[in-house]
Amino acid sequence: MSTIRFQALREASNRKAVHFEETNRKSSIFGTNVFNEKAMKQYLTSDAFKAVQGAIEHGTKIDRKLADYIAMGMKEWALSKGVTHYTHWFQPLTGTTAEKHDAFFETSYDGGDPVEKFGGAQLVQQEPDASSFPNGGIRNTFEARGYTAWDPTSPAFIYGTTLCIPTVFISYTGEALDNKIPLLRALAVMDEAATEVCRYFDKNVKKVTATLGWEQEYFLVDKALAHSRPDLMMTGRTLLGHTSAKGQQLDDHYFGSIPTRALTYMRDLEQECMLLGIPVKTRHNEVAPNQFELAPIFEETNLAVDHNCLLMDIMQKVAERHDFKVLLHEKPFKGVNGSGKHNNWSLATDTGVNLLSPSKTPMSNLQFLTFFINTIKAVNDYEELLRASIATASNDHRLGANEAPPAIISVFIGEQLTKVLAELESVTTGKLSPEEKTDLKLNVVGKIPEVILDNTDRNRTSPFAFTGNKFEFRAVGSSANCSNAMTTLNTIVAKQLRDFKVEVDALIDSKAMKKDDAIFNVLREYIKVSKDILFEGDGYSDAWEKEAKKRGLSNYKTTPEALKARASKRALDLFSELGIMNHVEVEARYEIELEEYTKKIQIESRVLGDISKNHVIPTAIRYQNTLIENVKGLKDIFGNEFESIAKEQIGLIKEISTHIEGINAKVEEMRNERKNANALNNAQKTAEAYCNKVKPYFEIIRNHCDKLELLVDNELWTLTKYRELLFTK
Ligand code: ADP
Ligand code: MG
Repeated sequence: MSTIRFQALREASNRKAVHFEETNRKSSIFGTNVFNEKAMKQYLTSDAFKAVQGAIEHGTKIDRKLADYIAMGMKEWALSKGVTHYTHWFQPLTGTTAEKHDAFFETSYDGGDPVEKFGGAQLVQQEPDASSFPNGGIRNTFEARGYTAWDPTSPAFIYGTTLCIPTVFISYTGEALDNKIPLLRALAVMDEAATEVCRYFDKNVKKVTATLGWEQEYFLVDKALAHSRPDLMMTGRTLLGHTSAKGQQLDDHYFGSIPTRALTYMRDLEQECMLLGIPVKTRHNEVAPNQFELAPIFEETNLAVDHNCLLMDIMQKVAERHDFKVLLHEKPFKGVNGSGKHNNWSLATDTGVNLLSPSKTPMSNLQFLTFFINTIKAVNDYEELLRASIATASNDHRLGANEAPPAIISVFIGEQLTKVLAELESVTTGKLSPEEKTDLKLNVVGKIPEVILDNTDRNRTSPFAFTGNKFEFRAVGSSANCSNAMTTLNTIVAKQLRDFKVEVDALIDSKAMKKDDAIFNVLREYIKVSKDILFEGDGYSDAWEKEAKKRGLSNYKTTPEALKARASKRALDLFSELGIMNHVEVEARYEIELEEYTKKIQIESRVLGDISKNHVIPTAIRYQNTLIENVKGLKDIFGNEFESIAKEQIGLIKEISTHIEGINAKVEEMRNERKNANALNNAQKTAEAYCNKVKPYFEIIRNHCDKLELLVDNELWTLTKYRELLFTK
């Protein structure tokens, strides 16, 4: 009778890969739907083009007249590609992207003069109704309205028949209501701070860009099967389901041959990415069954973040054509790996140097070590803030739940660089002798390139690892907007670089030290004070938890705990000192994140209550009735003897009753805990109550349900099973 499940299984097993025409020469279609330099040159006057370039490179303001010309060119370009509408495309604090389409089409008030219009005013600013986006109290205390404003550093693009203009979202009083504004501010501060430090080594450096290359992990589930699971549809993850006999234990999926339907989907998705200028490069199977990964070539961070947001959106859209549902949740299935989004991060100069890449000469290697050690110190000093930047209800299933990576932030640098740091730690205090300097340059600083080539040790359990020419922040969640993590990382490193510059300059000025002596001296002290954050061992081991505790590192396993650091005085001071976010903005975000956590757990709790009572229990009773009929029949035939003959069935009947009773009781208790939590009128306390009082029921209720799944006749079970979700290709 479980018709939905069996219908879905039939549908899924009859599916064929969808036919799709691929352009093989990707370079010929790359960025065709982007208003990039090439399109701008073709459609803009030279003044308008220069204005946009100036805004991109130096942040110069574009005046209204030129904005009109730019809008006109953009409109002509869009119309030539069959576009009918435009939208400001932005990233409110909901975690997804937002858009509201307006037609280019306009008429005069009496319906005459139909025409396609788009002026500078529409390009530069729009007023979406801000009242339904999260604002963490900003709007209540200040102004009700918000507006979106064009971000020329991320190019406009066409999706479908709509021209999308990347924008920031801001309240009328100037507070950021989105993810992009703090990121742009952090990147600007990073540019300034890193450029200053670079100039110790190369006076030609005028700009430093933070780069980001994300690796997106995801699951693909057949659409019909996904629709048969209310938990997947409502929460993005399965709240119950007995583990499949076969999971990932054979390691037969990782890097295996990609199933045909999935591969066709990926090719289609990649083609869409190419048109939108997202430089996708790598695709492969991940560890868990039906889990995959996609990674692009790295880009400037703001653009990379936009591209990742856009990607997450089009992944779902393309999946519809292929009858898949994409699961971006960090832990869709219990018992197999969850998904993350490694954020590969580095710094590049406008002279073409990757500042985290060791090179051939001692001087440029001192530059490398400067940025390398400053990054380590920043992470050491602000590990709690970094942890807070990736805290969400869904990411809690990975961090601290014995899955890559642990909730303790630490930095892995590999054996060779550990040795280099040890040698630098022993340089003389004060002025270095010429011999010592020569020795350092020849034998320590000068040796790094070879060293790195040897560094094959890749610690997969580290949340923040140096991987040869970049740091890899691995604790970011698969469904996250990367900007939170990137804003925090760039802010703390920028702050560190500023402090470094001040310290080095002070030694040069007051102690009359030579520049490299001063740099060696400051770096030596940094190495000494940053040791606690360095860890090369197994991040999953209990020993590390104990050791980390001794070192004073934080180990926040849940979001409400981890988020506290976000609103600490240190965090407020840091963000306001650097002009990234004022106190109101930081506190608003803290509140929004707590609320989001609460809502997520609340929804999961309700859905679990619903499924267990309205799907699982009725199914269990139906099966129990069959057993009761059977026992009655046996009694009719065998009389008194029936008890021994029907022993197993009677046992099953009792066992089923126990689980039904368990579910009913626990769902009721959980509901009461929700009520109690809702009555607390403090966002932190409510989130904590959801975390510590409501959430613990999930496992207990799930266990009863999963036991019933094992007992009940497979033909009757209504919920699509793990083996079917994970192994239908
Ligand atoms: P993996 O970590 O899976 O072995 P790779 O080392 O090939 O993979 O790189 C992973 C990601 O790192 C890619 O998305 C790539 O674009 C990115 N990456 C490489 N160099 C940099 C850099 N300098 N800055 C930022 N990201 C980078
Ligand atoms: Mg990877």
